[in-house]
Amino acid sequence: MHITQGPQYNGKASKRLHVMAKPIGAVCNIDCTYCYYLSKQDLLEYKQGCSPVMDDDTLETYIRQYIEGQNTPEIIFSWQGGEPTMLGLDYFKKIVEFQSKYQPQGIIISNDLQTNGTLLNDEWCAFLKQHNFLVGLSIDGPEMLHNAHRTNRAGRGTFNQVMKAVELLHKHQVKFATLTCVNNLTSRNPLEVYRFLRDEVRSPQMQFIPIVEQKTFRTTAPQTWQPQEQLKQGDKRLIPGHKNSIVESWCVADEAWGNFLIEIFDEWIQNDIGKVFVQYFEASIEAWMGRKNPLCTLGEICGKGLAMEPNGDVYSCDHYVYPEYKIGNIHHQKLDTLAYSTEQQKFGFAKKRTLPRQCQSCDYQFACYGECPKNRFIRTQEGEPGLNYLCAGWKKFFSHADKAMAYILRATGNPVAHGKYSDAMLRDHLGKPSVFETKF
Ligand code: SF4
Ligand code: SF4
Repeated sequence: MHITQGPQYNGKASKRLHVMAKPIGAVCNIDCTYCYYLSKQDLLEYKQGCSPVMDDDTLETYIRQYIEGQNTPEIIFSWQGGEPTMLGLDYFKKIVEFQSKYQPQGIIISNDLQTNGTLLNDEWCAFLKQHNFLVGLSIDGPEMLHNAHRTNRAGRGTFNQVMKAVELLHKHQVKFATLTCVNNLTSRNPLEVYRFLRDEVRSPQMQFIPIVEQKTFRTTAPQTWQPQEQLKQGDKRLIPGHKNSIVESWCVADEAWGNFLIEIFDEWIQNDIGKVFVQYFEASIEAWMGRKNPLCTLGEICGKGLAMEPNGDVYSCDHYVYPEYKIGNIHHQKLDTLAYSTEQQKFGFAKKRTLPRQCQSCDYQFACYGECPKNRFIRTQEGEPGLNYLCAGWKKFFSHADKAMAYILRATGNPVAHGKYSDAMLRDHLGKPSVFETKF
């Protein structure tokens, strides 16, 4: 019998953690219509005395445990909110001080910061550059589209402030990616959004986030839905804006999600491949090559990204910050114990275990894996619960991209492991080249 050894680092098993830390919890200086996090203030009972700012003791405990819990050449911290820049620059200076206090020799420590950009200034950007932060900047597209949902507390759009942040990030050469929410409006204007991000923002990396929330999301945790109440794929009540819709009106519709990706994909492949980084397209290429999808939402299993609130409470995932999915607190258990707990492993493997038959027999299972379980609240045509709300859109995009993916991989000398134009299919159908003509 062979005992296979997993990846090693420094002579020991490699060990990696990822936590979205929320040092200010669900507190933000603006008030976007579709924010999934601000309602956590009520859900987690902040009003009953829970401070929204992570205190020094919790912050230091977290940083120490996060470093001690990993055995990798690089340790990546992710800071999110709410709006973490509301904590002020001195708070982040304290973060890097704690990190250097516990930094093991030879290990790189990196930081990601997700922000709405409205509070960034020269001083902030100089700091972010100096400490090599990767900034995730939320921007939804040109002014009209961005301002439709990303508003301040007075209801005014934040576009001008965010564009100022874009210029500052470029000026200080801070690494950044753009995070763009694909909602009811942006989904209908894919090329306007894409060209704006490419030409005006000069986004070094585009991440698109489909906005999907049931009307009950503020109080009801995913997977606590009753199977018999799930609507069948194609039911009109799944259309955002329908008078009896069960999803919020600002959500992206299932097919609109597919159309959004398709239009951008076609433009990208004609003009921008190799020059513009679109996270979903790059991740899909990996999937077509037969590699593990780098995105948790499109991977076979998940559960490797925890979320932590300011008081040290740890949850299974950023999208599962509900009392039912709290797995512990760093003041009582160590972070790595929580991350590798049976409960968390069960959470991660449920993504694969609960895949409905429609996904199991889908041509694009390898690229999609039923997407994020948070969105699996509809029934298949056969009536099986647990299908992803975005299924129709994903399938449309993947079937559209299939031929082009094979073409890209062959043109770059790479294997095509999956899809209707895969190497295996080509071998099986040798002599019928027209079927496998991978030009598009
Ligand atoms: S629940 Fe969704 S977002 Fe969370 S880890 Fe799993 S796939 Fe990723
Ligand atoms: S495209 Fe639809 S059926 Fe196929 S794996 Fe994704 S969610 Fe399942």
